[in-house]
Amino acid sequence: MKKIALFPGSFDPLTAGHVDLIERGAPLFDELIIGVFVNTSKVNFFTGGEKVELITEALAHVPNVRVVAQETELTVTAAKKMGAQFLLRGIRSVKDYEYERDIMEMNHHLDPTLETVFLLANAKYSYISSSMLKEILHFGGDVKAYLPPNIYQAIVKKRDAHES
Ligand code: ADP
Repeated sequence: MKKIALFPGSFDPLTAGHVDLIERGAPLFDELIIGVFVNTSKVNFFTGGEKVELITEALAHVPNVRVVAQETELTVTAAKKMGAQFLLRGIRSVKDYEYERDIMEMNHHLDPTLETVFLLANAKYSYISSSMLKEILHFGGDVKAYLPPNIYQAIVKKRDAHES
C-alpha cells in the first residue's frame, strides 16, 4: 500500500523551518500532501489560492510533494478523503510538544487508524514561527533568511503595493 502523509498547517507564510521539515519528512513516505488550512483564529497574510501557488513553487525541488487547499473541515476527515494514513507535524519546543500532543490525542480519538509522525525542528529554525515573521515584517524588519526566496519576493511585492 502506498504510504501517504498529510502535513496540515496554515503556512502563513511558509517558512524555512517548514521547508526543512518537509524536505526531511518527504523521503519517509511515498507521497506527502501539504494541506493548506484556513485558520480562522489567525490573521492571514496570503489567501488560500496564493498560498497553494507560492508553496507549490517553493517546494518544486521535492519530488513527492503535492500542495492542496484545505476546506474548512476536520484534519482527520481531510486525511481520510486523501487516502492518507499518516499526519506529519513538527515540534520546535516543549510548548509545541504539549500543544501537538493534545492535537494528536484528539485526532487519535476521532480516527484511531491515523498515525501522527513528529519530527523535531532543525535547531537552526526552531525559534521561527510564521506569526513572529509576520510581526517583524509588519515593522519593516529583515527576515529574508527565514523565508523561501519566492515567498519573500511575494511578501515584498504585497507590502509595496499596499504602501503605494
Ligand atoms: P498551525 O497553525 O496548524 O500550527 P503552522 O503553519 O504554524 O500551522 O505550523 C504547521 C506545523 O509546522 C506545526 O506542526 C508546527 O509545529 C510546524 N512548524 C512551524 N514552524 C516550524 C519550524 N520553524 N520548524 C519546524 N517545524 C515548524
